[in-house]
Amino acid sequence: MNTIRTELWTYQVKREVPCVVCGQFFEQANVAVVVFDGAQERGELCSGCLATPTQQAAGRLRQRGARLARRSPLWAQELAVLAGQLDVTDDWGVTVAALRTAEQAARRRRLPAIPSRERHALIA
Ligand SMILES: [Zn+2]
Repeated sequence: MNTIRTELWTYQVKREVPCVVCGQFFEQANVAVVVFDGAQERGELCSGCLATPTQQAAGRLRQRGARLARRSPLWAQELAVLAGQLDVTDDWGVTVAALRTAEQAARRRRLPAIPSRERHALIA
């Protein structure tokens, strides 16, 4: 059963977060792709992994898990469980294009309103 789903969350600030799939830190531009396994939040997804089909992402998770197995067996096991769920998930439920659109909308909302007098001064 497909239990993996994603949600787009908007933040007021840019953040550096680790990707739930590849483990690399990335700068997230106001909008996060948050991955859930059922009701459990598993982490945020970088755009590179979002562009990767879920079954390939499962392969990345297994590689990470194999590297972590000795140092952190419980964490490796968590990654293996998530990989197993991704194996049976058709897609992320959100596309890179949808993420970019949401980021643009978030940026527009953040632009402060400039009084017309000052706007004129900026143009002149
Ligand atoms: Zn990633």
